[in-house]
Amino acid sequence: MNRTKIVLLGATGSIGSSACNCIRRFPERFEIVGLSANHRIPQLLDLADEFHPKAVCVGSSQTDALRQRLGAGVTVYNATEGLEDLVNRTEFDILLNALVGAVGLRATVAALKKNKTVALANKESLVVGGDFINSLVQSGFGKVVPVDSEHSAILQCLSGENHSSVESILLTASGGPFRNTPLDKFKDIVPEDALNHPTWSMGKKITIDSATLVNKGFEVIEAHHLFAMPYNRLRVVIHPQSIIHSMVEFHDGALMAQMGVPDMELPIQFALSYPERLPIPSKRLNLASVKELTFFEPDFDRFPCLRLCLDAGRIGGTMPAVLNAANEMAVAAFLAGELGYIEIAAVLRSAMERHSPQPVNGIEVVEEADRAIRAFSTELIGRMAEKHKGAHERGK
Ligand code: NAD
Ligand code: MG
Repeated sequence: MNRTKIVLLGATGSIGSSACNCIRRFPERFEIVGLSANHRIPQLLDLADEFHPKAVCVGSSQTDALRQRLGAGVTVYNATEGLEDLVNRTEFDILLNALVGAVGLRATVAALKKNKTVALANKESLVVGGDFINSLVQSGFGKVVPVDSEHSAILQCLSGENHSSVESILLTASGGPFRNTPLDKFKDIVPEDALNHPTWSMGKKITIDSATLVNKGFEVIEAHHLFAMPYNRLRVVIHPQSIIHSMVEFHDGALMAQMGVPDMELPIQFALSYPERLPIPSKRLNLASVKELTFFEPDFDRFPCLRLCLDAGRIGGTMPAVLNAANEMAVAAFLAGELGYIEIAAVLRSAMERHSPQPVNGIEVVEEADRAIRAFSTELIGRMAEKHKGAHERGK
C-alpha cells in the first residue's frame, strides 16, 4: 500500500506536535512530504531530519542558510506566500492545516483546488471563508475533515446516520478558567490567569479564545459550515470535565455523544485515517475515576464574546472574518499586556458595528475586510492601551 503523503503546516505548534506523534506511530502508513514553522527553526530542522520532507516553509528569511543545511533534495519556501506555494507545488494526499489564524485560509483553499483532503485544525479557515470553502467542496473540489475535537465527535456521532434525521447538534465547552470567577474580578484578569486552562493544553491564542469562549463561538460557525446546520439547531452546553466532546440529537430523541480523555491525538489521527480507526495505545477513559459529568447553560453576561460570535455567524458574509481579525488583534494586545481582558469584547463589538458585510465568494473579499478591520483595531486598541496603562499606573 502506498503511504499517505501529508503536508503538515504549523508543525511546531501544539496540534503540529501531536500530529507528529500520530504520524510516528504509523511509519508504514503515513509520510510527511511538507512541513512549515514560523519562528521555531531548530525544532523544524529536527523534524526535517526525522521525517525527510521534500519541502519546508519558514516565516523567517534565512532561506539560504536553510537550503545549505537541508541540501538540494528539499525545497525551501518562506513567508506567508510560501505556505500557498508549498501546497501548490508539492505532491501530497492530505493537508493537515495546523496554522493559527486567518493566515491559514489560502493554504486550505489551495489544497481544495488541487482536489485534496484537508484535515482542518485551523478553524479560522472556516470561520472567515466557510461559504467559499463550501462552494468549492460542493463543486467537487476536495474534502474537509475536521480535526477540532468537537467536530470530530460530531462526525463520529453522525457516522452511518441520515442527515435528515438530525434534530440538533450540541457543542460542549469546558467553560475555561473563568467559569466561576466573580464578575467584579474580571477587570483584574491578566494573561497568566487566562492561559491556565483547566482541561486542555493548547497554543496561546486558542487558550485565550477558550477563556473568552470566542473559541466556542468559532466552533459553532465551523459546525454550521461543516455539517450544513442552521444556527437555530446548534447549541452550546458547558461541560467542565471535557469528557463528552460533543453530541448529536436525532428526531427520535436519541442523543449520541462521543467521549474520551481530553487529548487531541485521537481527533488528529482519526482525521488522517478517516473513515478508518487506527489504534492508540493507553489514554483510556476511566469513568469510575471521572465520577461525575455535569452540564450548564452558557451565561452570556459572563461570556459576551460568545454572543458576538453567534451574531456574526447569523449575519454571515464577511462579518465572521471581521470578528476574527478584531479578535486576533485583541488577543495579541491582551497577551502583550496592552489591553484588559474585558476590553476584548469591546474591540469585537466595535469592529462588527463598523462593518457592512459582503458575500464571501472568494479569498480577496475576506482579505480586504480583514485588512480594513486590522487597521481600525490597531487604532482602537492603541487608544484603549493608553487608558489601560493609565489605569494600571493609578492602581500601583
Ligand atoms: P500553536 O500556536 O501552538 O501553533 C501554531 C503553528 O502555526 C506554529 O507551528 C506556528 O509556527 C505556526 N504559525 C503561526 N502563525 C503563523 C504565520 N503567521 N505564518 C506561518 N505560520 C504560522 O497553535 P495550536 O494550538 O496548535 O492551534 C493551531 C490551530 O488548531 C488553531 O486554529 C486552533 O484554533 C486549532 N485547534 C487547536 C487545538 C489544540 O488543542 N491546540 C484544538 C482544536 C483546534
Ligand atoms: Mg475544539
